[in-house]
Amino acid sequence: MELALAEAEKARGTADVPIGAVVVDADGQVIGRGHNEREATGDPTAHAEVLAIRDAARQVGEWRLTGCTLVVTLEPCTMCAGAIVLARLDRLVFGAYDEKAGAVGSLWDIVRDRRLNHRPEVVSGVMADEAGARLRDFFIGHRS
Ligand SMILES: [Zn+2]
Repeated sequence: MELALAEAEKARGTADVPIGAVVVDADGQVIGRGHNEREATGDPTAHAEVLAIRDAARQVGEWRLTGCTLVVTLEPCTMCAGAIVLARLDRLVFGAYDEKAGAVGSLWDIVRDRRLNHRPEVVSGVMADEAGARLRDFFIGHRS
């Protein structure tokens, strides 16, 4: 989570909401990193999780990220939760809950939907205070 928060830091000073993600393999090695770049790239799909998953898949050389864990500072949205299922990630660890768009328990629960063929283990609320504070700082800064 420290590493995911460090990724989120990379968005500081930009127009992008500071959300960071990393993918860790079964040996504990970081194989993918990403931070939200939606504004920077003008890409609606450039969420931290998607970028970290793409980075990890490039590293591994295939789309299946079996045995890997995705760590992200904020509860994933519907798109990212879907990507986590599609990537066959074993585990998802997230920080703060997103009551407005969260798809891992808040509004939907995509990753634990029994109709899907893969359900990663979920660990939620890890360093939620730190992750949440970063987002609050960002929005307070943009309100003025
Ligand atoms: Zn997302």
